[in-house]
Amino acid sequence: MLFNGRRARGQGKVSLADSHGLVKLSAEPIDMKHIILFFIIPIFAISVIETAGADKKLPGYTDTPKIPGQKWRVHDANRPRPKVVEVGPSKTLGLKPPKGAVVLFDGTDTSGWSHNKWKVENGYMEVTRGSGQLNSKQKFGSIKLHIEFATPAKVDGESQARGNSGVFFCGQYEVQVLDSYQNISYADGQCAAIYGQHPPRVNACRPPGEWQTYDIEFRAPKFAKDGKVTQPAVVTVIHNGVKVHDKRELIGPSGHRSVKAYKKHGPGSIGLQDHGNPMRFRNIWVVELDE
Ligand code: MG
Repeated sequence: MLFNGRRARGQGKVSLADSHGLVKLSAEPIDMKHIILFFIIPIFAISVIETAGADKKLPGYTDTPKIPGQKWRVHDANRPRPKVVEVGPSKTLGLKPPKGAVVLFDGTDTSGWSHNKWKVENGYMEVTRGSGQLNSKQKFGSIKLHIEFATPAKVDGESQARGNSGVFFCGQYEVQVLDSYQNISYADGQCAAIYGQHPPRVNACRPPGEWQTYDIEFRAPKFAKDGKVTQPAVVTVIHNGVKVHDKRELIGPSGHRSVKAYKKHGPGSIGLQDHGNPMRFRNIWVVELDE
């Protein structure tokens, strides 16, 4: 009854606008209700305004589908953000590809990729805005991947608009790349998240402009003849030397604001996303694993 808008507003007008009413309030204990309303309504209103304000400050969504097996929605604005850990330069920076590895980018040669519109200089390649995702010509199933990346030194934008890219496995499972250094976004979309599904255990980002590493083991999903998934994809991600996903099972392909079901597929490209930010990548190689 207290929060029945019509009645509460009506009572407020009578008791507060009418000086006789106020006199009556002090004389009759039953009108303590009005005094309580006088205090509670503004407090309630302030708390509603504050909550709305807080929601605005938290990037994410509250109207997306639930993530299967979790209590959170996809890109849930209210999902707790992983704890920040301070990390130094990664010990796997400059890691040499082992014998038998497939080198996808050695600092100069982009012939292993779907186009050559990204800038190549000083041993790295940089996203050219609007040029489109880079996909490896060679297709892979289960692999170990080493890749180094740097988010732009000049900080620009916030949340998903700052230093966004992504590494795709089999062309459809994204390990997010984002500048998550002092940049709040939704938990399942921050750097090293399995996009839209699993936030990393901790935030192990290095500052903008610094080189960072992903050492990732991706186990491709397996399918029955009828197309049903018999073994979901499983991913282990080591970000700057910190294990942030340990044999994490994927729910399906990555999607923005959506939950996608597995569809039978074979080997696919490694993809590097063009999300409009001048992200840099270098020293990219793959070791193929037995299925
Ligand atoms: Mg991305």
